[in-house]
Amino acid sequence: MEYLSTDPGKPNLRGVAYETLAQWLDDRGEKPYRQKQIFAWVHRPAGPIASFDEMTDIKKGLREALAEGFDLSLPEIAERQVSPDGTRKYLFVSPDGGAYEAVYIPEVAIGSNTNTLCVSSQTGCSVGCTFCFTASLRRNRNLTTAEIMGQVHAVMRDVKELGDQAKVTNIVFMGMGEPLLNYDNVVAACRLMVDERGLWFATRRVTVSTSGIVPNIARLGQDTEVQLALSLHAASDDIRSKIVPINKKWGVGALVQALRDYPLKPRRRFTIEYVVLGGVNDSLEEAHKTGRLLQGIPCKINLLPLNPHERTPHAAPSEAQTKAFQAVLREYGFNVFIRTPRGQEISAACGQLGGLAEEHKLSRLPIVNQEESQYA
Ligand code: SAH
Ligand code: SF4
Repeated sequence: MEYLSTDPGKPNLRGVAYETLAQWLDDRGEKPYRQKQIFAWVHRPAGPIASFDEMTDIKKGLREALAEGFDLSLPEIAERQVSPDGTRKYLFVSPDGGAYEAVYIPEVAIGSNTNTLCVSSQTGCSVGCTFCFTASLRRNRNLTTAEIMGQVHAVMRDVKELGDQAKVTNIVFMGMGEPLLNYDNVVAACRLMVDERGLWFATRRVTVSTSGIVPNIARLGQDTEVQLALSLHAASDDIRSKIVPINKKWGVGALVQALRDYPLKPRRRFTIEYVVLGGVNDSLEEAHKTGRLLQGIPCKINLLPLNPHERTPHAAPSEAQTKAFQAVLREYGFNVFIRTPRGQEISAACGQLGGLAEEHKLSRLPIVNQEESQYA
C-alpha cells in the first residue's frame, strides 16, 4: 500500500529504490544514462522536484510514461509553525488520514553550520515510554519509505526560501515512532538518503534512534552504515522497565551486548540518550551505574532534561541535579552533553510531537488498542 500516492496502487517514486527504477527503465528499453538522470531529479540535493514536468531534460513521452507508472506527490503540509529560535515544525497528512510531524532545527543562529531535520517513522508509537507525548497517540501505523523521504523533500523545498545557509545537513529519526519497529521502510529510506546519485548524505550525518529493539539493532549494523543512537534512560532494569516498557522484553544487559556486538566503523561512536526525569532516574547512584555499564563502549552521552507536556506524570529535574549527573559520567571519561531543548514554544522539542493533528482532528486512522501491545 502506498499511502502517499493519490492512487494507492501506484508506487510513489520518492520511496523507490534506485535498482527498481533502473529495472523499470530498462524494461522500457530506455538508455542506461536515464536511470541516474531521473533518480537525480527526484532526489536533487539542490531541491527535490514536485512534479514530472520539472524534469526539463527528459523527453515528454518518457515523462508521461513515468507519470503513468509512478506517483510523485509530496506529503501535504497541513500546518507549519515557526519558533522564535528558527525551529520549524511541520504537520503532514497523507491521503488516508495518517498524520505525522517533522522538525527542522537550524543551528546557524547559534554559531554552527549544522541544520538538523528530525523525521518521523510512524504516526504514533506502541513502545509507550511514560515521558513521551507520541506514546499517548492511538492512531498508529508505519510510514512508508515515500512518506519518510517525502518529509525530507518537502522540508528541503520549504527552507529554500531561507537561502543556502539553511541547507539540511543532518537527518535524525527522532520524531514520532520507533524506527526499528518499521525496519524495512526505515532502512530503505536511509539507503536513499546516503545514495551518492541523489541526496548523498554522509552516513555519519544520518542517525537512527531506538528505544532498544535488540534483534533489529544487529540487522541495522549489517544493512547500513548510518549512525546509531540508543535511548538508554536508566542502567537499572527496574527503573528502565517502568519508563520504557519494552525493557521487559529486552533488558539493559541485552542492549549493552547489542552495542558490544555492533560492527561499528573505525573512529565512530554511538550516541547514548538519557532523558532525565526528576526523582526517577536522576540519582547519582544511577549515574555511577550508567558510567560503569557503558565502560569500554565508544559513545558520547546526551542528557535530555524532560521536556514537559500535559500527558506525562514526570517532572523535569533541577538544573543542579542534571549537572551533578553529568559530572559523575564525566569521571568515567565520557563526553557528556546537556541538550538544550529547541522549539519548545511550538512543542517541537523531543518527546512533544503528535499534538497538532489531534488538535485539528486531522488524523483519520483507526484507533489501535495499545493496551494489547506486545510490550505492555
Ligand atoms: N523512538 C525513538 C526515537 C524517537 S524519540 C527513541 O525512543 O529513541 C527521540 C528521543 O526523544 C528519544 O531519546 C526519547 O527518549 C526522547 N524523548 C521522548 N520524550 C521526551 C521528553 N518528553 N523530553 C525529552 N526527551 C524525550
Ligand atoms: Fe516511542 Fe521513542 Fe516515544 Fe518511546 S520515546 S514512546 S520509543 S517515540
